Amino acid sequence: MTITPTDFATCARELDKTDPLRDYPARFLGSDDPEIVAYLDGNSLGRPTRATAQRLAAFVTEGWGGRLIRGWDEHWFDLPLTIGDRIGATVLGAAAGQTTVGDSTTVLLYKLARGALALRPDRTEIVLDRDNFPTDRYLLESIATDLELTLRWIEPDVAGGVTTQEVVDAVSERTALVVLSHVAYRSGYLLDAPAVCAATHDAGALLLLDLCHSAGSVELELDTWAIDFAVGCTYKYLNGGPGAPAFAYVADAHQADFTQPIWGWMGRENPFEMAQGYVPAAGIRRVISGTPAIVGMLPIQDTLDLIEEVGMAAVRAKSMALTEFAIELGRNWLLPLGVQVSSPLDSARRGGHVTIDHPRFREVTPRLWQRGVIPDFRPPQGIRLGLSPLSTTFGEVLAGLSAIRDELLAY
Ligand SMILES: *Cc1c(COP(=O)(O)O)cnc(C)c1O
Repeated sequence: MTITPTDFATCARELDKTDPLRDYPARFLGSDDPEIVAYLDGNSLGRPTRATAQRLAAFVTEGWGGRLIRGWDEHWFDLPLTIGDRIGATVLGAAAGQTTVGDSTTVLLYKLARGALALRPDRTEIVLDRDNFPTDRYLLESIATDLELTLRWIEPDVAGGVTTQEVVDAVSERTALVVLSHVAYRSGYLLDAPAVCAATHDAGALLLLDLCHSAGSVELELDTWAIDFAVGCTYKYLNGGPGAPAFAYVADAHQADFTQPIWGWMGRENPFEMAQGYVPAAGIRRVISGTPAIVGMLPIQDTLDLIEEVGMAAVRAKSMALTEFAIELGRNWLLPLGVQVSSPLDSARRGGHVTIDHPRFREVTPRLWQRGVIPDFRPPQGIRLGLSPLSTTFGEVLAGLSAIRDELLAY
């Protein structure tokens, strides 16, 4: 039996109607904007919630404008840790006191990698992979140069990702630190984090996980998996807004011995004493360097409110249903036009996005943007469909893939 486009349209309507999260897309700004036909890039920049629009406006008048410098004593000084704890509880599977918000992912990766390496001073190697996001690779290159360490590169399958066996083969008694993305930014491959963590620990090394594409899309159990360190973005699935500060997780077990290299006053014990000499603050606060970006971290709370209402299990279930629908449409409509699916087909090994490849996609992407269909392009020839469980509808997936098919047929 062939499935017709009409069948798929009926199917998308049915999926939206029975979706347990069907009321959530309307909680985002722009969900009723006819110019935005399909927003398929929520994994690069999440949409703002309606609650965020109100929160930011109120903050300027009442918070900043009304409380002025008093705001630091009343609320802001603790906010990185308060929001950190909420991210930990709601999204990361992390008990309180291990997560803080601030800096960018790049800077936090640097601080945590340096801090982790200082805990393994007699070891000489960092394990990483060729397909990790550029910033992760570059800053580890910088650290390896500074500290004269060896980078041991894993070369994963580009349509898949780093396998547990590849980690087992790469680690040794020389390994100080393993740095990997939990969900690969290109393929969407989902690492077997508990197995990789166990293999890392068997070699006596530490694991630093990049959760940029995991936080808010897949379920995480950092404490249960015994992850040592983690960082992640808040402007992707957590809808914090462009350049929103990142989060860092340092497991309780490491905190007493952990120091990071950017010694600022806000991460010092008793910062307002303005004393001589740096003494790290107790606990996770020592990850902080300078004054945290309070305005930037406000919106994260609105997405945490939504995730707290529904739970990460429901978010992950919707995410899997969205990517499965995208792959099904791709198989029927795009494979005959020479498109390849470059993401794992097994939902259990796939995060929240799907990458499809075609030699024409570099030219096709700007034409899609013009018609209000907004995925992103990843060289050399990939369109990445980022499906954000709280804000994306099945109707958008249908509209998006149908537009891609039309553009390819137009050649
Ligand atoms: C998005 C992303 C980053 C971004 O880092 P910034 O410091 O926010 O620019 C880093 N790593 C991965 C894996 C990402 O997907």
